[in-house]
Amino acid sequence: MIDSPANPAVPQAHSVREALPAASGRRVLVTGGAGFIGSHLVFKLLQRGDQVIVIDNLSTGRAVNLPAFHPRLTMIVADVSTALLSHAAALSDGLHEVYHLAAAVGVGLIVGKPIESIETNITQTAALLAALSQLRNPPRVLVASSSEVYGKSTSLPFREDDDVVYGPTTVARWSYAMSKAVDEHLALAYASQRQLPVVVARFFNTVGPGQVGDYGMVLPRLIAAALNGQAVAVYGDGKQTRCFCDVRDVSGILPVLLGHTPALGQIFNIGSEQSITISDLARAVLRITHSAGAIEYLPHAAVYGPGFEDLAHRRPDTSRLRAAVSFSPQWSLDQTIADTAAWIIAGKLSGVDWQQGNDALPQMGAGADEGSSNPVVQNFEGLATRERELPS
Ligand code: NAD
Repeated sequence: MIDSPANPAVPQAHSVREALPAASGRRVLVTGGAGFIGSHLVFKLLQRGDQVIVIDNLSTGRAVNLPAFHPRLTMIVADVSTALLSHAAALSDGLHEVYHLAAAVGVGLIVGKPIESIETNITQTAALLAALSQLRNPPRVLVASSSEVYGKSTSLPFREDDDVVYGPTTVARWSYAMSKAVDEHLALAYASQRQLPVVVARFFNTVGPGQVGDYGMVLPRLIAAALNGQAVAVYGDGKQTRCFCDVRDVSGILPVLLGHTPALGQIFNIGSEQSITISDLARAVLRITHSAGAIEYLPHAAVYGPGFEDLAHRRPDTSRLRAAVSFSPQWSLDQTIADTAAWIIAGKLSGVDWQQGNDALPQMGAGADEGSSNPVVQNFEGLATRERELPS
């Protein structure tokens, strides 16, 4: 039985209290595996019996998102491009699948650090695809993209082959969409020119336990404010609509999709088709958390600066995904909100403020804050000082 996370006081967004399944013999690489979606995926792959290698530089991901000790998990704390060089042998030997989720994510991060974000999203993907395409037996590769790729298209619902519509390059927020579009072009180019077996997954708003609001993610930000009894801030007039899908549904479908041979070379929307206005989302958060707080409307410009363009509506057509792998989300939005709130509360009870940015944590090798009693910090330091390679 595996039932002890790194620090038992730290609540995890996933259950690890399950019998260790038989090894599948599959070796799988997950970049960004310590992140929100990545860590849920890693748990599913471990449950499938896979040998999992994670590459994550912990820029927005967290070591505590993953089990500290698992006989089939290897964690490499590094940039993707660095790890490809420093662990070339381990990363070339019999990889069966690669899930490339590492990216600079979140409007706040993209607008705040556009250079790092653009470079991360393009150069890391380019390095990974180039390295994988040179292997004698290239693995199947899933490249994470985003609904942002559709830009400000008003042609709802968004279909994979739709035209995309972007704003001017003077507006920083479009750099994320464009960088992900370049990733898609690269992935499809490697598929057609080098026969790399690639699937592109365009995620729409993915939410659930384990997501933090530091970088502009709306749901955890609203929930954290409601739990603190503060006003929940809705940006704009609140009439904009989004479709939220639980991370447990999203992460669960990825291995199914990558295992589906006809999916190779294609792009898939991944998300829910159920729309909700952001005002209604805020009301649902207040109701489910039993908060007496109010909704406060803030102009986008006050949050992200002048010229910020938000989209009125964003809704996927998921018929291609449903036809390919029978995708049908199981988690209701109310349940997702309740579970995310429970996860944030559990963190607070154990002394962890999940909404704190990683800036509050010590950087690798910086030796910061050694006397801290914060379990996240202790765990982070422990992981940063060694790379975990455990026997299978
Ligand atoms: P996340 O920030 O939790 O995960 C990204 C992970 O990548 C983090 O763990 C981060 O530390 C890591 N990372 C960043 N740069 C890296 C680098 N150079 N080398 C190694 N690791 C690096 O965000 P997430 O929500 O889990 O997003 C995962 C993927 O899904 C991303 O590619 C993102 O663009 C895509 N996506 C997510 C959503 C969503 O709603 N969450 C929507 C659309 C697309």
